[in-house]
Amino acid sequence: MKIEIEEAAKKLQSANNIVVTAHINPDGDAIGSSLALMHILHEMNKNVRVFIDDVIPPNFLILPQINEIEHPVELTEKEISADLLVVLDTQTDRIGRTLNLVKAPILNIDHHVTNEGNNVDWLYLNAEAAATCEIIFDLIKFLPINLTENIAHCLYAGLATDTGFFNYANTKPSTLRAAAVLIEAGVKPNVIAEEMERKSLADFKGLCEVLKTVEFFYDGKVAGLFINEAIAHLVDSTEGFIDLIRVIDGVEIAFMLTCKDKNLNRVSMRSRTVDVSKIARSLGGGGHIRAAGCSINTSFDEAKKIIIEAIGKSLK
Ligand code: 5GP
Ligand code: MN
Repeated sequence: MKIEIEEAAKKLQSANNIVVTAHINPDGDAIGSSLALMHILHEMNKNVRVFIDDVIPPNFLILPQINEIEHPVELTEKEISADLLVVLDTQTDRIGRTLNLVKAPILNIDHHVTNEGNNVDWLYLNAEAAATCEIIFDLIKFLPINLTENIAHCLYAGLATDTGFFNYANTKPSTLRAAAVLIEAGVKPNVIAEEMERKSLADFKGLCEVLKTVEFFYDGKVAGLFINEAIAHLVDSTEGFIDLIRVIDGVEIAFMLTCKDKNLNRVSMRSRTVDVSKIARSLGGGGHIRAAGCSINTSFDEAKKIIIEAIGKSLK
């Protein structure tokens, strides 16, 4: 059932034992919104646990109390009961093992236009919000707490990363007003930016190999990077790689195909004009108009053919 933000706030207020989760392959918005909500719920004296079923990239280790995020695989409990499971920044199909581990009604808070709210009790969706962190920022107005420096740090990290440091089309006056309030609460934009953009030497060398794989399609309107199994071993994080080909003159759609495992490949897409969420959705994924993704469960070479063909159709 779709609900308004006031009702989402009420659901949080009436629960006492709350589990918060976000999507696998977690980015700044997934981690920032989950941790911010953890700090908010602590301020409200709630019992809260945060589960993310994936590795937390080292860039986010500066966020306050990030070590409290639990990894479902390491939990000995077979089942965890709670009053509420809050799913942030995704629909439930991308939260991994947390879905079966936690037995509780689900409150879903998201900004992805493709979220249809399947299998959740309540969905608060605001596709106008630049980030789920912007929604959590708005939510605070309906909760009996004040913005703390810890909350502000987490929200700023998500807001900054999901907007490409306030460069993408999702950056709105409300986004910048929220950022200003977060800076007033103690956030240092340069500190967050430096930490988010930091790369290990190994990842930098891996990036050099990845850039050599660039190929152009459809008269240069499409550029792709191809991280096959061998190259995938060279990099821990591919964060930001796609942005380097997105900026090439004439490129409408940039994409990156990454081999995650045998017959499991991830696609990331970015576009200037074309709605890539539609392409992602046609392959079982989702996202936003200008940034979307999906998984393709075939061999790497087959996945390459599939994604190039799907992108080609959208250009016609
Ligand atoms: P990225 O390329 O950064 O992994 O993802 C771009 C956007 O698309 C993000 O907002 C992300 O949440 C969304 N996205 C990526 N992959 C998937 C997917 O498999 N399913 C859905 N529903 N959304 C995705
Ligand atoms: Mn997001």
